[in-house]
Amino acid sequence: MTEALRDAPARLEWLTAEVVRIGDETPRVRSLWLRVSGWPGHLAGQHLDVRLTGEDGYSAQRSYSIASPPEDALIELTVQRLTAGEVSPYLTSEVAVGDRFQIRGPIGYHFVWTADVGGPLFLIGGGSGIVPLMAMLRHRRNAGSRVPAILLYSSRTEADIIYRAELEAMAAETGLGVVHTLTDIVPAGWRGEKRRIDRAMIEAVGFRPADRPHVFICGPAGLVETAAQHLVALGHDAGMIKTERFGPTGV
Ligand SMILES: Cc1cc2nc3c(=O)[nH]c(=O)nc-3n(C[C@H](O)[C@H](O)[C@H](O)COP(=O)(O)OP(=O)(O)OC[C@H]3O[C@@H](n4cnc5c(N)ncnc54)[C@H](O)[C@@H]3O)c2cc1C
Repeated sequence: MTEALRDAPARLEWLTAEVVRIGDETPRVRSLWLRVSGWPGHLAGQHLDVRLTGEDGYSAQRSYSIASPPEDALIELTVQRLTAGEVSPYLTSEVAVGDRFQIRGPIGYHFVWTADVGGPLFLIGGGSGIVPLMAMLRHRRNAGSRVPAILLYSSRTEADIIYRAELEAMAAETGLGVVHTLTDIVPAGWRGEKRRIDRAMIEAVGFRPADRPHVFICGPAGLVETAAQHLVALGHDAGMIKTERFGPTGV
């Protein structure tokens, strides 16, 4: 079966997801844990479609990456609220434990990492683009893989950093290298990077092209395109670079 066919949403059934737990990650970001009867399982890095249907029959559909690793029984989504958005304000502000909506998936076989693929692993994320990268890192931890791994993660402000405590714990437990960069407000005493991801930062932080890292980049389109171009210019094999674009602009 070709990847295109395996990815075709028309072949996937809509399933009912029940919200069993909700947790705030940052002031604008919330995680939802879903119980989904009949979920076929997924790989780290894949996403799913969410479909919300109103009482008047109007429905809206959006894609969300799966934050939970394949080993978990519940599916975790981590959603950033866009004030003018249609679906994300519902998922981050209105939804309650016990609510149900429809999902279908998993989708996307190009942006996937499994422990047997090995490393090194170089992950570059912006804003909520951390979500599929986190599924990969959680899978790496659960599988007992200790392939060298580096995460370069761009956030607007310190308060916008998603999964910060878990990333710190993973760095201590699994040898993951984590480099944060802040693009908008940098607090006094900040020890990370202080600008948008650029070529010099990628070169200083990441693996060398000769190490042949598996690279995954996810976030706003601008960040993804820029980072991929810099990597290729630095001599990384374009075939080793996988990208996922979440939205039009910004972090
Ligand atoms: C494969 C994939 C995986 C995704 N995974 C996640 C995820 O894990 N977590 C998550 O929070 N989002 C994720 N997204 C983005 C998500 O699908 C929605 O686009 C987002 O939640 C906005 O939907 P909305 O209905 O609230 O806003 P809309 O009503 O669709 O849009 C409102 C306004 O915001 C702009 N906009 C839309 N999306 C973005 C964005 N991402 N950044 C900035 N501006 C935007 C639109 O152009 C429009 O002007 C993913 C997208 C894709 C394609």
